Amino acid sequence: MILTGGCLCGGVRWRVESDPVPVVACYCEDCRRTTGNHVACATFPAGAVTIEETTLRWYASSAEGRRGFCRTCGGNLFWTATDWDRLEIWMGTADMPTGLRLSAHEFTASAADWDAIPPDGLPRFERIAPGEVAGR
Ligand SMILES: [Zn+2]
Ligand SMILES: [Zn+2]
Repeated sequence: MILTGGCLCGGVRWRVESDPVPVVACYCEDCRRTTGNHVACATFPAGAVTIEETTLRWYASSAEGRRGFCRTCGGNLFWTATDWDRLEIWMGTADMPTGLRLSAHEFTASAADWDAIPPDGLPRFERIAPGEVAGR
């Protein structure tokens, strides 16, 4: 599977070649405050991701993690942890179609009070979904 994507202005473009991966909706406060909403993320081996950019900026959003965003258009694209060999990509930045499906909702206990998590039958986790890493 090959996916491509980028921010709104095109200053950051990414490409990944990988097996299909689950997409997890994250309702944590850090995602909310950096994007204005919940996000949908997918995790890939860092070595499988190629980034071409002129405007990428990294922000240490917690003691364990950092977020990559475009300093021109403000688009949020990436999250990774210190000494982690994987990269989370916000799937809202992907070029469509992706062929991927949402698989779970996580950090539902931190969802905005106006947000409505859809009754889609997918697993919900009050905090982090199993298999993800803490620190966002
Ligand atoms: Zn941009
Ligand atoms: Zn989050």
